[in-house]
Amino acid sequence: MAQTLLKRFVDIDEHTDPTDKAMHLFDQYNELYFQNELPVPTIRFSNKMSACGGSLSKRKTGYVLTLSALYHTKYGWEITDGTIRHEMIHLYMFETYPDQKVRHDDKRFVQMCKQMDCSVKMEVERPTPYKKRGTKYVYICPKCEILFPRKKKVRGYCASCIKKTGEKHQVTLFMVY
Ligand SMILES: [Zn+2]
Ligand SMILES: [Zn+2]
Repeated sequence: MAQTLLKRFVDIDEHTDPTDKAMHLFDQYNELYFQNELPVPTIRFSNKMSACGGSLSKRKTGYVLTLSALYHTKYGWEITDGTIRHEMIHLYMFETYPDQKVRHDDKRFVQMCKQMDCSVKMEVERPTPYKKRGTKYVYICPKCEILFPRKKKVRGYCASCIKKTGEKHQVTLFMVY
């Protein structure tokens, strides 16, 4: 049942800024799985994170959920969405068992991953950092959200949208490396 709900959340979503959309997904899952009781973190995409898809840290000002722009560029929302749910479980464990270090192999953690339909470990290959391939800018199509890694600044329209619907959507800058 969660599966259908999740799909719907993504489909009805109209955010085009990835950070807004990530925030929106967090809110939806917070309601669906946690009765809105999880504290809302700051969510940000990092262009430096390449070892993992996401992380959660606790600062004086609150939690920070960091998502890897590299993973997102390579694998898109399917992976980023699962990463958000995974990090939310870390957040829940932090809040519920503040004196314990609940790790990935903990039964409670594994169980919640099952319930929330996300993986305990990243199941896709680690992407090569863009630096090695010379990518400097990543653009996003505001309509279909396809990401375009580029070595130079560009102005242009999403070729995929033109091909599929004939609509011209100008790509906007998502990340600078
Ligand atoms: Zn984790
Ligand atoms: Zn497009």
